[in-house]
Amino acid sequence: MLTYTPPLKDMLFVLNEVLAAPALLAQLPAHADVDTALMREVLEQAGRFARDVIFPLNASGDAQGCTFDQGKVTTPDGFADAYRQFLDGGWPALACATEDGGQGLPHTLNCALFEMLAATNHGWTMYPDLLHGAYSCLRAHGSEELKQRYLAKIATGEWLTTMCLTEAHAGSDLGLLRTRAVPQLDGSYKLSGDKIFISGGEHDLTDNILHLVLARLPDAPVGSKGISLFLVPKFLPEGQRNQVHCTGIEHKMGVHGSATCSMQFDGATGWLVGEAHRGLNAMFVMMNSARLHVGVQGLGLGETAYQNALAYARDRVQSRAVERPAGTSAPADAIVHHPAVQRLLMNQRVWVEGGRMLAYWSALMLDQAEHDPDVQQRTAINGLLALITPIVKAVLTQQGYDGASLALQVFGGHGYVVETGIEQTIRDARITMVYEGTNEIQAIDLLMRKVLADGGRCLFAWLDQVESFAHGVADSQDGSQAARHARQLLALTEGLRTRLARIDAARTEQPRLPYDIAGEFMHIVSHCAFGWLWLRAELAAAALIDQALGDAKCTTACYYYTFMLPATQQYFAVIDASLAAGNAFPKDLINQHAA
Ligand SMILES: Cc1cc2nc3c(=O)[nH]c(=O)nc-3n(C[C@H](O)[C@H](O)[C@H](O)COP(=O)(O)OP(=O)(O)OC[C@H]3O[C@@H](n4cnc5c(N)ncnc54)[C@H](O)[C@@H]3O)c2cc1C
Repeated sequence: MLTYTPPLKDMLFVLNEVLAAPALLAQLPAHADVDTALMREVLEQAGRFARDVIFPLNASGDAQGCTFDQGKVTTPDGFADAYRQFLDGGWPALACATEDGGQGLPHTLNCALFEMLAATNHGWTMYPDLLHGAYSCLRAHGSEELKQRYLAKIATGEWLTTMCLTEAHAGSDLGLLRTRAVPQLDGSYKLSGDKIFISGGEHDLTDNILHLVLARLPDAPVGSKGISLFLVPKFLPEGQRNQVHCTGIEHKMGVHGSATCSMQFDGATGWLVGEAHRGLNAMFVMMNSARLHVGVQGLGLGETAYQNALAYARDRVQSRAVERPAGTSAPADAIVHHPAVQRLLMNQRVWVEGGRMLAYWSALMLDQAEHDPDVQQRTAINGLLALITPIVKAVLTQQGYDGASLALQVFGGHGYVVETGIEQTIRDARITMVYEGTNEIQAIDLLMRKVLADGGRCLFAWLDQVESFAHGVADSQDGSQAARHARQLLALTEGLRTRLARIDAARTEQPRLPYDIAGEFMHIVSHCAFGWLWLRAELAAAALIDQALGDAKCTTACYYYTFMLPATQQYFAVIDASLAAGNAFPKDLINQHAA
């Protein structure tokens, strides 16, 4: 069975030493009193909840799954009670505003909380995972009346929420959705249509469920510009059952504890959120929050996988290592001493620790984007956050899945059998690369919408900062390992700038080029972020009083620059080859091949 220890030391290293979160939060009036001690206290309590309350339900929830009977969904044993404890502890309200009944703490801490929740029970965590997105969406776009009625219920977690986008024929392309909303004389709407794959569409954790639903008004233009957003409660304000029902749940590869529901809206009463036909705009508030949360799911799952692979590698004895531990006379060594196994483990560690820096940095930007007193600063940070969000979603979920798979490799054949538990982590992690916008859609969003659409302005402004930092390290610490890494980082950003200019120049002649290489482009940008963060970590580690921790972080930073960053050469090579190939390929690559 899996074990989990909240990685508080690593979390606090990122928050306090790498990101200097307490100092940055102190500049935001809303979070001026959030200091290191408070952060530690919250993380310790959150870690206890995750480890002691929901982790014991992880394997049993997977084995039992949810059940469906005549419209009712029952979650696995213990899930409802765990949610009650979550509610009583005030955890759903952590990052919601105090005036709405929340605790008013930073998103940065909420991010760390959800890392630990996903690490210990991904299926259970999917129920409260959408709450903050729904809260932010309603707060930003809801009418005063809707906010009065529902905001506090969401903020406190008394009622859970869903995100009803997907229909059988409309997945990535929401412009195809058909659910209709007909205006009523009293200002409400009647919604009719069928949604599929709705997480938490029905369950037994809360008395009421609030659905945020995308639908079309009768006069809606076709495509994504004709979509509006509605709030549809399971129970109406006067207590009657609304005409929205769960018609079944999916039997699926992983996250068995999370009910994935088919939902039927049969003249259900709802209210418009935001402007008519601008529903995607409003929904994006929720989707962006959800995308960061999904990235954090990848991070949490990767952490659990790593912890368990490491423990197993220390215990499992096979063959003599090429460099044996001092004083060993046993016929064989623990596999943790074999370089090949160390590579498997370090690949996991470097992604988990790098992913944590990226995720917490994003969450910190979310706090700044909401609360920085300087409006220009808020706008700039919002732009950068929009740029980084698809990377957090796609890259961290890929790393979570890959990390779980590497962990299984460390377990050998024992990882492939159910008892060790690691195969559940792989099954659970796999969906994160698909839902909340597939990773292909994220890569295209980054290159087309976030970079090329604004002429690369936001990306370049951020690269300027990265380069200025790297130049500072290269110049001031010449001859050091950090200076060598800084120069590697500068070569990377320069390579990125050159390729982007070439992609931009070639795209009129080669219209499919950006779509072909969006994945490679995303990985290169992500390495600019990881390289920058690892360089910061390396400097912070060198100044630590805890020398063992500092040495470990410096080693991991060096590992990143030695074994991971060079992968960008391959991404550059693919982009260069695609540029050189011009229009050598037929338009319909696959069908020609099939013929
Ligand atoms: C367990 C689970 C939970 C979910 N929870 C929710 C939920 O709570 N709410 C909700 O609304 N939905 C939910 N979903 C749905 C999920 O968001 C969709 O499955 C996802 O967005 C992809 O849509 P699709 O499955 O229709 O795949 P498709 O859109 O058909 O995509 C199939 C493939 O084609 C690729 N593709 C499609 N379009 C493009 C394009 N333009 N460019 C490049 N590649 C493209 C995709 O990347 C993918 O590889 C959930 C799904 C699952 C399995």
